[in-house]
Amino acid sequence: MKVTILGSGVAGISAGYHLKQKGINSSIYEKDSDWGGLCGNFTIDGFRFDRFVHLSFPDDKHVLQLFTNNTGMHEHIPFPSNYYKNHWLRHPAQNNLAPLPSEEKVKIICDFINREKKNITEITNYEEWLKVQYGSYFAEKFPFVYTRKYWGVEARELETKWIGVRMYTPDIKQVLEGSYETQDECFYFAKKMYYPKKGGFRSILNSCRKDLDINFNKEVVKIDPNQKKLIFSDGQIEIYDRLISTLPLPEIIKMLPNVPDEVKEATNNLRHTCGYQISLGFNRPDVAKYLWFYIYDEDILSARVYSPSLKSSDNVPKGCSSLQAEVFFDNKAEIISSELVLKNTIDKLVQIGVFKKQDLIVQDIRFEPYANVTFVHSIYQDRSIILNYLNELNIKSIGRFGKWEYAWSHQAFEDGKNTI
Ligand SMILES: Cc1cc2nc3c(=O)[nH]c(=O)nc-3n(C[C@H](O)[C@H](O)[C@H](O)COP(=O)(O)OP(=O)(O)OC[C@H]3O[C@@H](n4cnc5c(N)ncnc54)[C@H](O)[C@@H]3O)c2cc1C
Repeated sequence: MKVTILGSGVAGISAGYHLKQKGINSSIYEKDSDWGGLCGNFTIDGFRFDRFVHLSFPDDKHVLQLFTNNTGMHEHIPFPSNYYKNHWLRHPAQNNLAPLPSEEKVKIICDFINREKKNITEITNYEEWLKVQYGSYFAEKFPFVYTRKYWGVEARELETKWIGVRMYTPDIKQVLEGSYETQDECFYFAKKMYYPKKGGFRSILNSCRKDLDINFNKEVVKIDPNQKKLIFSDGQIEIYDRLISTLPLPEIIKMLPNVPDEVKEATNNLRHTCGYQISLGFNRPDVAKYLWFYIYDEDILSARVYSPSLKSSDNVPKGCSSLQAEVFFDNKAEIISSELVLKNTIDKLVQIGVFKKQDLIVQDIRFEPYANVTFVHSIYQDRSIILNYLNELNIKSIGRFGKWEYAWSHQAFEDGKNTI
């Protein structure tokens, strides 16, 4: 049996690894010249940058052990920060209002007390959910703005099942305590996060990818499911017995012949974000103050900034530090040019005192066509139409964009395991 896997991200590597554990060989085809997909990285003048922020927090001890195997892990307690109108608030902001002026704290707290009480099952969209959890004033100043920056849409356009443990809802005691003094308690959904000591985030896969047959610079452009044939951009043709794909649903659908209108329409309805990573290296060790921080001011395009050098000092040359900012767009929106985004990011971060321009020695901007799957109201229906269709064609679609899920890397890894 010839098992063919498309994509060498976490999901593809996990599928190949778990097949191998069962004595089944597979061939992986990857369009890029290296492995890791979104968990991969790039290096400029000795500064290593992951593709977006990446820290690991698997619930499963066995998975954590596999991820740790090679390099050992740094353990981080997640205490991110929030930048809001010249103030730095520990995360989550609603639990740490202390640095804000009294007038604004009073507005937030009064609104929190008087917020509409609604049964969660009656809530129809994310905007309503946010108002019911935090009150209107806070919702408008913080998560509504962040939703626009991170998801590229208005909060009312999103449904709510994706939220899960991601957002913290405080009680009045916690809000009041945090309005007097910044709280020491970590309210983040993962209490510990892990990062490989060496080699960047993708090192979590070192032991699994060993001995796998990964073929690089192999971009699939057409799939003929009847003849079980793959055609690559260089003209090569491969026949498969079994096909596992980790490609984004909109991409794989484009490669198939005679796709029914209903599937085409469902694919067209899918929404996702795309975005820039703005990578910055500094010639001093102390630029990065927080593992990551969120930005709520709309004139600053970046939604989030994090520090590769705080994740691991292995990511920078000795005596240096680094930051990476993210700027996202909805896939149907107009994309601002990379020049403007880079300029805005650097100028604004200098303006708010994050770094001094003279310390900046590396600057880079690159674009990722797929970042987050967006949970618009029609997602579940559209996604199941497409996945059912792929199933009928005997194509197993897995991973973050293959299942069209808000999957962290350990979940994409589980997906690869469950394919077997
Ligand atoms: C902004 C952001 C922050 C994140 N932060 C975290 C975090 O902190 N912790 C965490 O655990 N997870 C995080 N994630 C999620 C994590 O990145 C994903 O869950 C994981 O990388 C998905 O792996 P995958 O294999 O499913 O997909 P991918 O990594 O996208 O792999 C798909 C592979 O297919 C290849 N491919 C595409 N088209 C073709 C083609 N035509 N032919 C051949 N190959 C092709 C691609 O090059 C790629 O290598 C984050 C994601 C984003 C966007």
